[in-house]
Amino acid sequence: MPSPLQQEGLMINSTVIAGKTRVYSIIGCPVTHSFSPVMQNAALHAAAVDAIYVPFSVEPDQLSVAVSGLRALGVCGFNVTIPHKTSIMPLLNELAPSAVQAGAVNTVVNQGGRLIGHNTDGDGLVRSLVKDFNCDVAGSKVVLVGAGGAARGALAALCRAGVKSIVVLNRTVTAAEVLIDSFSSSFPQIMLHGAALDSQSGHLVSDADLLINATSLGMAGEKIDGLTLALLPDHAKVYDMVYNPPLTPLLLDARNRGLQAANGLGMLVAQGELAFSLWHGIAPANDIMQKALSSFLNAAKA
Ligand code: NAP
Repeated sequence: MPSPLQQEGLMINSTVIAGKTRVYSIIGCPVTHSFSPVMQNAALHAAAVDAIYVPFSVEPDQLSVAVSGLRALGVCGFNVTIPHKTSIMPLLNELAPSAVQAGAVNTVVNQGGRLIGHNTDGDGLVRSLVKDFNCDVAGSKVVLVGAGGAARGALAALCRAGVKSIVVLNRTVTAAEVLIDSFSSSFPQIMLHGAALDSQSGHLVSDADLLINATSLGMAGEKIDGLTLALLPDHAKVYDMVYNPPLTPLLLDARNRGLQAANGLGMLVAQGELAFSLWHGIAPANDIMQKALSSFLNAAKA
């Protein structure tokens, strides 16, 4: 009788690792916190794909050697996480447009020894917005808080998804302006504006349909200084890319104001689903990654 975890596809001990078993992985430093092995192995198991997904911790000064090793070993594909998302780019044979626009790689496909870098984070965000808020982002007015790597990927995907306008608010205003400048010529039809995240920025959120936190604030329970939700319209939705803790001060504020709000867990799942499709040419079973992750998190809490 399989255990509940086996039924969710979490335990893969029954998978036979044989000569033909394909290997996929995630590289990062640290990598032990990653939920990707849980999600990817559950989806492989459910789809009966003869493959396994394993985490490898790679120190920054070992990245080049590690990439050569993954290529030499015939690892079929891998995810890339902090701190390698940008530094890996020159080590790859080719970059897909998603990676070029995002300025970062989170998924690599090995095509006969040629390593192709993709970025599924931004499209994962858009997919999660559509699912979590049951809305179409096309035509939306967006406020994006933050101008780091995650914000860049988000901006690219939101532009591709056809939003109407994006205001980027950031503590360091020059970073917001640089980000906007690098996209304005590719998407001339979208109104893009960068501004400082401070007490003066309130009026910039007053007609937003969607506010997205792409800063790291909230991970340690911090509020976002300079951001007030008071002026957001009543129909606005608030998305926090942070998913741990699941309820950040921003999301709590949004709920207290009666606004629809969601954390970044859906984005994490969706970027994994998109990576799975790139590697295996099929979509993972419906919600299998989400269910595997929920089971894993519930088991960890118990
Ligand atoms: P990053 O490149 O280091 O950028 C950090 C951003 O946060 C910058 O805009 C920075 O502003 C801002 N920031 C940091 N400390 C701040 C403070 N005290 N006050 C105001 N602003 C501050 O990080 P990242 O890779 O973009 O990641 C950002 C967040 O997205 C992280 O929490 C990450 O976990 C999350 N994320 C989630 C997913 C998902 O799947 N859900 C995927 C990717 C990332 P300055 O420019 O002024 O320094």
